Amino acid sequence: MTEWVYANLTDIMGKVHTIALRKDYESFFKNGIGIDGSSIPGFASVNRSDLVAKPDMRTFVKIPWRHDEYLVLLKTYYEDNAFDKDPKNVAEKADLALKEMGYEAVLRPELEFFVLNENGRGNTHYFEPPYSDVTFEYRKKVSEAVQDMGIPIRYHHHENASGQIEVELLWIDGVELTCDYTIYTKIVSKWLAKDMGMAVTYMPKLKKDMAGNGMHIHMFLKKNGENIFRGDNEISQEARYFIGGILEHMPYITALTNPTINSYKRLNGGLEAPRYLAWGYRNRSTLIRVPARMKDIEVRNADSSANPYLAFSLIILAGLDGIKKKIEPSEPVDYDLYALSKEKLKEYPALPESLEDAIELMESDEFVKYALGNELYDTFIDMKKLEIEEFLQAITDWEIKKYRDI
Ligand code: GLU
Ligand code: MG
Ligand code: MG
Repeated sequence: MTEWVYANLTDIMGKVHTIALRKDYESFFKNGIGIDGSSIPGFASVNRSDLVAKPDMRTFVKIPWRHDEYLVLLKTYYEDNAFDKDPKNVAEKADLALKEMGYEAVLRPELEFFVLNENGRGNTHYFEPPYSDVTFEYRKKVSEAVQDMGIPIRYHHHENASGQIEVELLWIDGVELTCDYTIYTKIVSKWLAKDMGMAVTYMPKLKKDMAGNGMHIHMFLKKNGENIFRGDNEISQEARYFIGGILEHMPYITALTNPTINSYKRLNGGLEAPRYLAWGYRNRSTLIRVPARMKDIEVRNADSSANPYLAFSLIILAGLDGIKKKIEPSEPVDYDLYALSKEKLKEYPALPESLEDAIELMESDEFVKYALGNELYDTFIDMKKLEIEEFLQAITDWEIKKYRDI
């Protein structure tokens, strides 16, 4: 029987591309394999299209529900140098930046997504019990497969909206590995859904008045093995600076954390998706929540359409900049921001209102440019501008309903 390895790379927008190789293809493991970079959206131009993709053996793993089949993630190179548009390389750089300051990041991603099949949903709610939740067998299978791949699962449960699932991972060392595991969880959830005759979506907002899909990320920093965010009644000073950095940079990196036109329907729609640049203890209406255990922070605005390599790396780099520059955040908020009047909320700095605004802010920012590198930064902006243009030409269902009988 041939043993297969499915080698995956994640493109700029976070989409996975896969090549199937024989497991006994030794030169792949030794030297990598040549790929056509110009066929991966945004990657390479035809005249510089030869990339070498090498397996990242930290991520080599057997696919638990299949025989003799394996997964691995790829890293791409151009003429022996790490390819500058490969998002995985951005995460590696974030880990290096942490290391240079004597830190290590520990992260915990949370994935929310929808089961699409109408008959797979019914009218289910937050923490729906197994016997009435049609998504139960599926989410259990996903969580077990992920766990069997050596990715620690914290829990899975039914989320607020009907048919919405949450799978949370446990603490992972390092930004790059956290992103790798996030991609693996997405791959497994989509693959098992297909095997079970189901479909899932990670789009941020599926229906108006229904909760959207966030991709929250918990994190803390370690120095000499010690958690330096930990405090007694409040979080440490380093953690405050880290929060200060994230809040200061967030408007300029929102195009990466919330990268689709649909993202802003979630952010502007309430239902526990944050819109204001605020933080608070135990507060789920703020963009950053410090959980009651006082040892980590949760960044809540990123959504499931984001490329984790770009979103998580930039959040970490923003926080590090906060520590470097000792950026004190505003006072923590201890009330429900959603309960404030529109007038009052105008006093709060907010996230950009649309992808267009987010791209405009990103375009004005040297910090993001430096963090992503010129090539990736320019390509991301160009691709998003095209997406916006495409949307402006699209005729939506809403328009038809509103104007057809005019
Ligand atoms: N689904 C919510 C969101 O859009 C988050 C709910 C939660 O706190 O887990 O971010
Ligand atoms: Mg949730
Ligand atoms: Mg959460």
